[in-house]
Amino acid sequence: MPKIVEDNEENMNTCKRFCGPCPSFKPNELQTVKPHALFCARGASEKPIGEIEDKGCSCFGCPVFTEHQLAGGWFCMHGIEGRK
Ligand code: SF4
Ligand code: SF4
Repeated sequence: MPKIVEDNEENMNTCKRFCGPCPSFKPNELQTVKPHALFCARGASEKPIGEIEDKGCSCFGCPVFTEHQLAGGWFCMHGIEGRK
């Protein structure tokens, strides 16, 4: 079962190392739209999914992803299943 990801500074700093260089992040300017990053804790971007061009997801190499036994990836587009 996936564990809840805390919205804290440590996880945000880790996220910046993975969402930051992700090919889907900066080209879609996700940093300019709430919740900016750490989508696996905060939920999907407020940018409409139809306006986000999918260029891949870097979550799978992220320690937050493995440590919380997350699945799926692309949290900026799809959010967290069963969570807001
Ligand atoms: S799993 Fe993805 S959204 Fe969550 S902290 Fe890592 S890179 Fe960011
Ligand atoms: S959640 Fe995945 S697809 Fe979205 S910006 Fe982060 S690494 Fe990229």
